Amino acid sequence: MPEDKIISHAKVGIIGGGIMGVSLLYHLAKEGWKDLVLIEKGELTSGSTWHAAGQCPQMMGSYNLAKIHLHSTNLYRELEKETGQSTGWHGCGSLRIAYKQEDLDWFKYVKGILDNVGAPAEIISTNEIKKVHPFIKLDEILGAFYTPEDGHTDPTSTTNAMAKGARNHGAKIYRKNRVTDIKLLSSGEWKLITEKGDIVCEHVVNAAGSYGPEVGQMVGLKNIPSINMIHHYLVTDEHPTIRKLKKELPVVRDPMASAYLRQEGKGLLIGPYEKNTKCWALNGMDWKFDMELLEPELDRIEEHLNIGMDRIPEFKDVGIKKIICGPITHTPDDNFLAGPAPGLKNFWMFCGASIGIAQGGGAGKYMAQW
Ligand SMILES: Cc1cc2nc3c(=O)[nH]c(=O)nc-3n(C[C@H](O)[C@H](O)[C@H](O)COP(=O)(O)OP(=O)(O)OC[C@H]3O[C@@H](n4cnc5c(N)ncnc54)[C@H](O)[C@@H]3O)c2cc1C
Repeated sequence: MPEDKIISHAKVGIIGGGIMGVSLLYHLAKEGWKDLVLIEKGELTSGSTWHAAGQCPQMMGSYNLAKIHLHSTNLYRELEKETGQSTGWHGCGSLRIAYKQEDLDWFKYVKGILDNVGAPAEIISTNEIKKVHPFIKLDEILGAFYTPEDGHTDPTSTTNAMAKGARNHGAKIYRKNRVTDIKLLSSGEWKLITEKGDIVCEHVVNAAGSYGPEVGQMVGLKNIPSINMIHHYLVTDEHPTIRKLKKELPVVRDPMASAYLRQEGKGLLIGPYEKNTKCWALNGMDWKFDMELLEPELDRIEEHLNIGMDRIPEFKDVGIKKIICGPITHTPDDNFLAGPAPGLKNFWMFCGASIGIAQGGGAGKYMAQW
């Protein structure tokens, strides 16, 4: 889409066109805010968002996060009706496996939260697991937490659908335009210095993902608590049995493998959270990093892959089609950073998301209502 000449003034300037920034833009526009602008140094989603696996679980042990996740899934399911742009939503549901009585006790607590926020959830027996997922080997399993209405989405299509919704309400998006510096004016407004011109904004939002600390430094914020860690997932070739399925399998979260396992097209997908995880770009981000993946390190995740593939043996029948490896931002408590930056008026944080696809939709809504 052609972009107009850059505007000189805005009520809100959002830095970063990943799912977090675009969701905030969309929700501010829906709340009736005018003069909104989003600046992206590459293309929309070209940071971490484009390569995410897209899982959006509703199972959250925190009341507020459960509301955020529920809004995301409801939005991604319905957004096409509003915007005409498909989000790639798959409402296949999810299962989280229990191996211990403590897991089942925790499930009861989480079910109370989901009942409260209105997200359908059941604690199901091993027999019932077999009915919704015929391929899981049941040995050692005591039951599962089943959320029938969550699933996974296409992160790029979903972000673009929100961008379309925001533009329909008058918001402006400037791509291929890096914010190179930010100045505080005597009026109390912020001047965004961008490659294509300056924009004076009443509010500025740091939604720069992996670059959150670099953008923070532009306004004197040192030590923003967000680092990048490397994460992999693997997609298999088509599987003859999966090809014949009439209904998509639910996403499985297996704490023994420390992995998510799901259907992807007519094949399978597995993504482990490894024990020996690795940080990335600790000395700062290179501004040139855009639409890039990292070199896979399969030896670090092999143990998890083996356990996961034993749990769903169909994985062993087919070859690996692609391996995705990229950076995810993490904060000390693994919650995204949201809200006013300390000591600065009208400068807001909205970055550090480790499951930004699942949280972006809802986080954007509640941030817009702050
Ligand atoms: C392999 C992998 C799988 C994943 N799977 C899932 C999943 O299944 N579910 C899930 O919920 N999450 C998943 N994630 C995590 C998810 O991708 C991130 O949490 C999410 O994309 C973060 O979104 P964001 O908008 O904060 O950051 P980003 O998508 O990185 O967006 C930030 C944007 O800011 C731009 N930017 C930065 N600085 C500037 C500047 N100075 N000027 C202009 N623009 C700037 C960048 O170019 C970038 O596009 C996965 C991540 C990886 C790596």
